[in-house]
Amino acid sequence: MPIELVRDPREWQSRCLEARAAGRRIALVPTMGFLHAGHASLLRGARERAGPGGLALASIFVNPAQFGPAEDLTQYPRDLPRDLATCEAAGVDWVLAPEPGDVYASGHETWIEVERTAQGLCAGTRPGHFRGVATVVAKLFHLSVPHVALFGEKDWQQLQVVRAMVRDLDFAIEVAGMPIVREADGLALSSRNVYLSREERGRALALSKALRQAQVRAAGGEREAAVLSREAREALAREGVEVEYVEVVHSERLERLAHAGPGSRMLVAAQVGRTRLIDNVELP
Ligand code: AMP
Repeated sequence: MPIELVRDPREWQSRCLEARAAGRRIALVPTMGFLHAGHASLLRGARERAGPGGLALASIFVNPAQFGPAEDLTQYPRDLPRDLATCEAAGVDWVLAPEPGDVYASGHETWIEVERTAQGLCAGTRPGHFRGVATVVAKLFHLSVPHVALFGEKDWQQLQVVRAMVRDLDFAIEVAGMPIVREADGLALSSRNVYLSREERGRALALSKALRQAQVRAAGGEREAAVLSREAREALAREGVEVEYVEVVHSERLERLAHAGPGSRMLVAAQVGRTRLIDNVELP
């Protein structure tokens, strides 16, 4: 079956409800488009989890509600024809690509606030970001009625925010976290990497390098979070990367830890030129 593009959220919802009532298993990958190999791995995961006769679904929607007033909403890269080809190659059945006005009708006034998990880290510089994420994900869940939804571990805090919302609001949906897909040299794939100049692309490598170094140091016995974070901050600064945060946190609750160990992660956000990048690793 060729891939099908649906623009209208209402039409999408009736198709999904009908498919679910007919007993088809539904797997959903929410994205903002400009798809790369990281997205493709989620899409193939959805195809696999939907199983034979199931539906692998993707949404492509640059969600205005998760962008701050000074952020890159209007410049965010878009390429729907290429994205459809990527989805088709991954075995996706249907793609929802709605207009903002059809997702947020005028008079929209209901928002989802995840409290603890959506504080600190990225929320420090992006207030309201996770409220926008949680709200659009809840809407996509209601529109798509998936059995399972796949999210990348690259956006670690986002994954935990979605898990918290699903748990607290009793969504009967399995949330699958998928490993970070990286370039051969370690840079985490991101739609925003297209903003990087050649020179910035070189400096951006500092993020994955600093994280890998922290993993090596922790494996070698350095467990002090303060030491590991300081070393990572210094390594980033040496490469001319402006650090927003480097934190060692509990991987699910995201609270700051004094010591690395099982269930801990290092999360980093940094500015390379005008591009904001994030990355994270598990600490041994
Ligand atoms: P986005 O289009 O940036 O909103 O991302 C859509 C989904 O793809 C999110 O669940 C991301 O975490 C995931 N994703 C983005 N980049 C990567 C990557 N390099 N590896 C794995 N998943 C990713």
